[in-house]
Amino acid sequence: MDTTSIKAFGTEAADAALGEMDIKRRKVTDKDVEIDILYCGVCHSDLHFARNDWGFSVYPVVPGHEIVGKVKAVGEGVSKYKAGDIVAVGCLVDSCRTCNNCENDLEQYCPEWVGTYGGHDKHLDLPTYGGYSESIVVDEHFVLSVPENLDLAGVAPILCAGITTWSPLRHWNVGKDSKVAVVGLGGLGHMAIKLADALGAHVTLFSRSKNKIQDAMDLGADAVVISTNEDEMAAVQGQFDVIIDTVPYVHDVNPYIGTLNTNGTLVLVGYLGPLDPMLNSVPMIMGRKKVAGSLIGGIAETQELLDFCGEHNITSDIEVIDIQDINKAYERMLKSDVHYRFVIDMASL
Ligand code: NAP
Ligand code: ZN
Ligand code: ZN
Repeated sequence: MDTTSIKAFGTEAADAALGEMDIKRRKVTDKDVEIDILYCGVCHSDLHFARNDWGFSVYPVVPGHEIVGKVKAVGEGVSKYKAGDIVAVGCLVDSCRTCNNCENDLEQYCPEWVGTYGGHDKHLDLPTYGGYSESIVVDEHFVLSVPENLDLAGVAPILCAGITTWSPLRHWNVGKDSKVAVVGLGGLGHMAIKLADALGAHVTLFSRSKNKIQDAMDLGADAVVISTNEDEMAAVQGQFDVIIDTVPYVHDVNPYIGTLNTNGTLVLVGYLGPLDPMLNSVPMIMGRKKVAGSLIGGIAETQELLDFCGEHNITSDIEVIDIQDINKAYERMLKSDVHYRFVIDMASL
């Protein structure tokens, strides 16, 4: 198959810094859209994958799945997009299209879903490479339209941080009578606050950091609870219908179960792995409470979110960086020193 060599930023090993490299992209096939990348958000998953935190990284790794760009060319069979359109790509670039999940707009749960990086590109028989790169070629089904009124750099994080929190808010029917809590104020957490607030919910942030209280209120939170303060935790027992837990590392989930209302659900979207300490079933049984998980969102749901953000003028709060600063940005992300998402200006590559 015909390929083009392009510039990218990635890593050859878990303990190596990210640096410039060349990668191959396929030339557009019938249903493909070729996109010049303008901006790419920096997700904590990029860091996990570059450093093989989950144990299944395939090197070289070129991270990046919060992509906004301009269409450069389209295949002959493409009907949704044309050269010059401003478009976006999130965490998914392919799936089987025929399974029950695909047919129900849940491509993210397709057993054959292909991640934007670290997946398997069936056209090239190579790993997929993400958005820390000049351009990307994606089947039109996985390309999204960007509302014209939004700031493009601020749109990028909607493609992962936004949809990952939107999908559970929608699935658990969050609306104006809901009491929602968000654990952790980072990339996902700040989008969760904005989106739950825009849906009309009463929103509380659980944070370890007192210095984020004012920011949380400015983002749309109605209250902040410092999760290490026992009195503050005791004051919110039995309160929440839905809790979105965005913490990236193993942590004690049990203290949050008590803050759920009867029938409440705590949705894990951050940490991937066995919980430690283990979950105590007693408070769950005593209140028909649930602990659930959720993975990004489907393509139709991501378009729904982009359109909602267009209507409500919602973008991410960002710090724009050059690609050469990505290793420093990862170190700051590890210290929770991000306000509240880094976005790479890809013109710097
Ligand atoms: P982030 O920007 O680094 O934010 C994470 C926040 O969690 C921090 O700001 C901090 O908030 C809190 N935190 C960090 N370390 C903690 C610890 N050891 N204990 C307790 N709290 C801690 O990360 P992100 O980009 O939002 O991503 C969050 C997680 O979601 C990552 O693991 C990422 O891989 C995952 N993710 C999952 C999906 C999915 O589909 N399920 C999609 C995207 C990302 P405070 O300072 O306020 O406490
Ligand atoms: Zn992500
Ligand atoms: Zn499928």
